[in-house]
Amino acid sequence: MSITRILSGLHLTRLVTFLLLTVFFAGCATTGINKGHFNLVTSDEEVQMGQEFSVEVEKEYPVYKNAEVATYVQSVGDRIARICDRRDIAYHFAVIEKEEINAFALPGGYIYIYTGLMEILDDESQLAAVLAHEVGHVAARHSTERLTTMYGYSALAGLLLGDDPSFWAGLAADLFSTTGMLAYSRSNEYEADRLGVTYANSAGYDPVGMSELLSKFQMAERGEPSKLEEWLSTHPPTSERVSRVNVVIREMPGAPVGVRNKAAYERVKELLPR
Ligand SMILES: [Zn+2]
Repeated sequence: MSITRILSGLHLTRLVTFLLLTVFFAGCATTGINKGHFNLVTSDEEVQMGQEFSVEVEKEYPVYKNAEVATYVQSVGDRIARICDRRDIAYHFAVIEKEEINAFALPGGYIYIYTGLMEILDDESQLAAVLAHEVGHVAARHSTERLTTMYGYSALAGLLLGDDPSFWAGLAADLFSTTGMLAYSRSNEYEADRLGVTYANSAGYDPVGMSELLSKFQMAERGEPSKLEEWLSTHPPTSERVSRVNVVIREMPGAPVGVRNKAAYERVKELLPR
């Protein structure tokens, strides 16, 4: 696709909106988890973008079609989504049939976990930790922040006009071809960990599940590094993440309590592809 074509699609009202937003953002209060971050995509636009991406992603990545597994993962995700900082959107949690150990979030609340990652988890609190980390990325709007930085507002405004499906396919390919993932910055990852462990705890899960999840990544890095290429190329050193998460858990008021639902998780694990 050519950038000229994208720019020629820039709608005048968008430009006006952009100018107004620039003024607005320059003077707006900086509170909440997205404080001071440059993001000119509205929440509705981000959801539209996520829908388009999810169509492209699901062409490339086979969704695991087992109704029980799908319902279970969505229900665990819903517990997190209900208490997170961004509750204005619907969250979609889906399982991808792939041996690799990975999970990712698209803009607008489309979250995926690989069967390869589900396979190495022991209980629901660890699954909740994975999903809560991804919800953290969505709640803090890391993807559209990143897209704003990568493409600039003009290109984004062009694509948000939504009149060119091939543009979406091209953009999705650009974003997902090199590492298979939309890569976030290290500080985004640390923030998603911090939000994730907090959300898991607020949703009634044992927050230690997050710490254990990261330890599992460390074990897999040593044992089966080939299954972690995508993850390792997009995330900061796991040892640093473990120590930061442990600090958050230690600072939680009262001793960490919460459910693990090991039996329920093990039943679902039996339904994963062999
Ligand atoms: Zn992440």
